[in-house]
Amino acid sequence: MLWSSPAQAVCVDTPFGELCHQDLDPTPHIPGSADFAEQAWGEAGSAAYQAAANWMRANNGSSQSLDALQKQYLRPHFGDLVDRAAVVYNANLMDELSALGYRIPMNQSAAQTYCDRIYIDDPYQQGDLGQIILLAHELTHSRQCQDYGGAGTFGFHYFREYKRAGQSYENNRLEREAFAFEEQFSAWLDTQSVATSSFSSSPVFDPDFYLMSYGDLRNAFGTNQGAARNHWLTYGIQEGRRSSPAFDVQYYLSFYPDLQNAFSNDYTAAINHWLTYGIQEGRRSSIVFDVQYYLNRYSDLQSAFGAQNYSAAVDHWLTYGVSEGRQGSPDFDPSFYLSNNPDVARVYGASNYKGAIEHYLEFGRAEGRRGTAQ
Ligand SMILES: [Zn+2]
Repeated sequence: MLWSSPAQAVCVDTPFGELCHQDLDPTPHIPGSADFAEQAWGEAGSAAYQAAANWMRANNGSSQSLDALQKQYLRPHFGDLVDRAAVVYNANLMDELSALGYRIPMNQSAAQTYCDRIYIDDPYQQGDLGQIILLAHELTHSRQCQDYGGAGTFGFHYFREYKRAGQSYENNRLEREAFAFEEQFSAWLDTQSVATSSFSSSPVFDPDFYLMSYGDLRNAFGTNQGAARNHWLTYGIQEGRRSSPAFDVQYYLSFYPDLQNAFSNDYTAAINHWLTYGIQEGRRSSIVFDVQYYLNRYSDLQSAFGAQNYSAAVDHWLTYGVSEGRQGSPDFDPSFYLSNNPDVARVYGASNYKGAIEHYLEFGRAEGRRGTAQ
């Protein structure tokens, strides 16, 4: 099926002819070392993967872009990769990737990805969250391919890691990474219930706010929003950390005994409760945000949204109200806080109302600083 020519080209037979490539990793072989076997797998993989990519393209129908909902959920995690990715549904998948006698069985997979081209064996299903989760896994491979600089290098690493994992599909480091992300993404998707579809961004997670609210996260991650999101999904939710100006899960549970009784310290359940019921019921969700107070205080919002459209009010506060310095609760007035605390205004900026909220929650409250004039 595949052989090395004297000119170092590696060629592979495919159902429609021979494919060769020259750009092998120049690392010399050291016969007998463990590296030798891994290197051989890698070189075979580089050829096999590129040949398979060409075969798949020639033996499948046309591709389509991700749809609006898929992009909406995946863009926060993959950026503009969601615009470059092309998906082929009802695809004919490869049974195995093979070259030079090295093979990786693929017959169990529901999808295969060749850099920014994703093949899915099922038909396209609009609004199917399972398909979006599958895309999250496959896009992880697209990103790996991008990070490695293309199909040849990705194939090299994919085969080499397969060998290193004892020829186990699940233990391949590149698969472990994709499965781990798929799991995190799926948990995140759970927190983005139907109730949030009218929101401009997630009402429970704002990566900048999250980083600015905790010194340990700022030190660890700087301004890296992706790292912040991964931390929140992996640890932050379980630790009950504040993740949005509008929502403080520990406050929410302690403010409502019925929820405390029902959920105890299950913060994921509390988040889902707020998204699914709490917002619509007008429940208070933070010391700095009480949606009923907010709507009552500002007549322009009542005229625009109606007196009980709480989800529009939450969205307004997060999108405009915070940066306009509007007061979101009877216990915290960001304008007052900045004018009454010149040291905070100096560090955060005299009209940085979001910064005022972050400071109050992280430091000011514990230091006994007042949140309002009264
Ligand atoms: Zn995978």
